[in-house]
Amino acid sequence: MLAAKLVGTALTLTLALALALGLTPPAMMGATGAQNEVNIYSYRQPQLVKNLFKTFTRKTGIKVNIIFAKKGLEERLYQEGKNSPADVLFTVGVGRLDNAKQLGVTQAVFSKAINEAIPAAYRDPDGHWFGLTTRARIVYASKARVSQTEITYEELAEPKWKGRICSRSGQNTYSIALVASMIANLGEDKAQEWLAGLKDNLAVKPAGNDRAQVKSVYSGQCDISIGHTYYMAAMLNNTKKPEQKEWAKSVRIIFPNTKGRGTHVDISGIAMAKNAPNRDNALKLMEWLTGPDAQKIYAEVVNEYPLRRDVGLSEMVSSWGEMKPDPLPITDIAKYRKRASELVDEVGFDDGPSS
Ligand code: FE
Repeated sequence: MLAAKLVGTALTLTLALALALGLTPPAMMGATGAQNEVNIYSYRQPQLVKNLFKTFTRKTGIKVNIIFAKKGLEERLYQEGKNSPADVLFTVGVGRLDNAKQLGVTQAVFSKAINEAIPAAYRDPDGHWFGLTTRARIVYASKARVSQTEITYEELAEPKWKGRICSRSGQNTYSIALVASMIANLGEDKAQEWLAGLKDNLAVKPAGNDRAQVKSVYSGQCDISIGHTYYMAAMLNNTKKPEQKEWAKSVRIIFPNTKGRGTHVDISGIAMAKNAPNRDNALKLMEWLTGPDAQKIYAEVVNEYPLRRDVGLSEMVSSWGEMKPDPLPITDIAKYRKRASELVDEVGFDDGPSS
């Protein structure tokens, strides 16, 4: 059963119950598009996006209904089929967006405003999804035990890092995207060799999320970890779990491959649902999200990199220094993600170091 969390004025206990029973909630019916609203299926957490969508409602008068979930939204769209109330899928990672497209639950959108705002490398050429921000997959290095200030992904497979690296599961969508970028850049054989080398340099068996790896650096289990940029901000700003501030303060961000092709990035993005009942409103929302106001709000709140070039970075993100993104089209990451997942199994990445 999908654990859905709901916000918004239209959302009630009845609605939560309807969702729990797998029914289409009345507040999300709108099958004729008669009501002035838009329905979002979101993987992004409520605290990250509430203000963003509130601003949209204030500017346009279009009411936003959101269903939040941690997994299964593409499958849910698939199962709901023509009866789905969803207008858009709001998510992170090209893997999920591509998965939705492959499942046939998205539709093509062609908008001049969107295409002008978002560079082509961060859009599906068929128009089925596009990015809103990027996040870089970087190295968190121990301030105490790592003195170098530059690094490459390739180097992580070298013997000097033996027993010093922490990583989350190789099958995690973030890891898969990085491996896919290595396949795209180095070719499959070299990528496999690299991944086997990285596995042998792990300090321990992969486990936990990106923040857990930084904690392991803090505790001395390893000297570097691989993670997304915004977790640095999330840890430093964490008032509920202040211990995370200490983890973050023990490490420094190093953007890999800055002198070469640049750092691997993935996107947060959005797709129009195939059977969107409020298509016009959904398009308005999508276009608004690529505009300067929304890009600014969104990038500030999530501490990611806005894809619209005329919008600045949040103060914290700028403090990390310049990030040079790998110009690899994001569709190449989608293209190689299946092979990347196979490579992860072939080298036994999740078994951890062999000796
Ligand atoms: Fe994340």
